[in-house]
Amino acid sequence: MRAYDVIYKKRNGQKLSKEEISFMIEGYTKHEIADYQMSAFLMSVYFQNLDDEETFYLTNAMANSGEILDLSFLDGPTADKHSTGGVGDGTSLLIAPILASCDIYVPMMSGRALGHTGGTLDKLESIPGFNVNLDIKEFISVLKENKFAMIGQTKEVAPVDKRTYALRDVTATVESIPLICSSIMSKKIAEGAQNILLDVKTGNAAFIQEYEKSKMLAEKMVSVGKKFGRNMTAVITDMDEPLGTAVGNSLEVIQTMEALKNKINNDFVQLSIDLAAFSILQVGLTKTFEQAQSLAKEKITSGQALNKFIKMIELQKGNAKVVDDYSVFGKAKNVCYVKAKETGYLKFSNTRNIGIASCLLGAGRLKVEDKIDPVSGIIIHKKSGDFVNKNDIIFELHHNKTDVDNVTEILNSSYGVSNEKTEQNKKIKYIVN
Ligand code: URA
Repeated sequence: MRAYDVIYKKRNGQKLSKEEISFMIEGYTKHEIADYQMSAFLMSVYFQNLDDEETFYLTNAMANSGEILDLSFLDGPTADKHSTGGVGDGTSLLIAPILASCDIYVPMMSGRALGHTGGTLDKLESIPGFNVNLDIKEFISVLKENKFAMIGQTKEVAPVDKRTYALRDVTATVESIPLICSSIMSKKIAEGAQNILLDVKTGNAAFIQEYEKSKMLAEKMVSVGKKFGRNMTAVITDMDEPLGTAVGNSLEVIQTMEALKNKINNDFVQLSIDLAAFSILQVGLTKTFEQAQSLAKEKITSGQALNKFIKMIELQKGNAKVVDDYSVFGKAKNVCYVKAKETGYLKFSNTRNIGIASCLLGAGRLKVEDKIDPVSGIIIHKKSGDFVNKNDIIFELHHNKTDVDNVTEILNSSYGVSNEKTEQNKKIKYIVN
């Protein structure tokens, strides 16, 4: 078999066999297939698509490019949650300690910020000393002791995805349903959790913006996960508006801590509770969704989830003093504001721009090798449907830059003000399981 023939076949719209797909992935894993051939293969998939069977074979080959963890020795259910990425979407940080305090093991391997979206690992690393680079042995030891651990993808887990994702990122082949599905699901399968909850974002600040396509992606991922014998739920959630009131690494961790201390109850907290409830229901801890929501809330009000979070910081070598003293995170040199130019009801119209603005302030990456500024980002003072007077603060910018005029301009084009009151979008749009 030759890589050329497989690329040729897919380029011409023909169906690939299991052997042909395995040949490409195994060959690339062993460095026997060149980057340019893999790039051409990815582009042929982008244009010609893969059917369900081919997507399963691709996911399987990618998952098997490394180790598949077997967590069956743990004495309780295992669950993981993964989001396709959004703006202000730090829900994993709140959901994981809630689930761990329900005695559910949460082996969470997360990603970094890329493009306009944030990444859980960068958020965790804003806690001074926090180590996301545990090896599998250390990961399992933290998991056993505290029921949850949050780390980056190790070199053992679906290693081929790291390389194909980097190629996709620079060859405009990220936005492909079978490629996103196999990328996410190969990692989730290899991580070993029996119950998997996917938060598929839809809207102008999501990678897949159209609702129907988001639904197709959710259905594909659920179907692939089920073929591996995993318990699957996917929830399609709104990403036309930023989630919560913080965008940026330490700012989002502070928001999570405020939530864990039961001091706030915004859309970020409510969605996190709902997603935690889907996981609780998935593992069968409660009979109804409402009971699962109550249990998740109770884990916050009782302080159990906060204690789990503090212990995770300690076990992963972070400075847990941050929980009581946010100044331990450090502070941005500059704080400035973007104010309303008119009076009326606010509606976000381009949330992607808020993600881009946060990235330009230093909270995200424009290139994979860019360094993150952990304390920069944006506090959102008004949400869709809020009444604003001219000169009211809408965005509070934290940064270490010398000039942020371009960022202010981008933020000004992320919302509109009108006489008509619009409600905040419903967060959960559809459930697949
Ligand atoms: N997240 C991933 O891990 N892979 C993708 O392809 C897109 C989002």
